Amino acid sequence: MDIFKTFTLEAAHRLPNVPTGHKCARLHGHSFRVELLVAGEPGAHSGWVMDFAQIKAAFAPLYAQLDHHYLNDIPGLENPTSERLAIWIWERLKPTLPQLAEVVVHETCTSGCRYRGP
Ligand SMILES: [Zn+2]
Repeated sequence: MDIFKTFTLEAAHRLPNVPTGHKCARLHGHSFRVELLVAGEPGAHSGWVMDFAQIKAAFAPLYAQLDHHYLNDIPGLENPTSERLAIWIWERLKPTLPQLAEVVVHETCTSGCRYRGP
């Protein structure tokens, strides 16, 4: 079973490697929506896979680095596409949240990516 928790973060970015004239080369912002999926079996007694508060606590240090920041300034996010952001989150969260199964990054209401690890 997968459980998930969704976070909203506001951040600015620009994409340095897009073709000349591409709108994403210009500085702009998004209300990114990040979904973190955790896989496991519900405990026989607890009835849950994990306390949602545990996911929130594990993500908190990363959230603080991302929310209301200019993503391009963050080491590892010099080219902050949704794909790179999903990988960045996965690499930093997986060690403290081993049951992490998927990171979803919604860049807009209709666009985003899912990453299930390397
Ligand atoms: Zn963008």
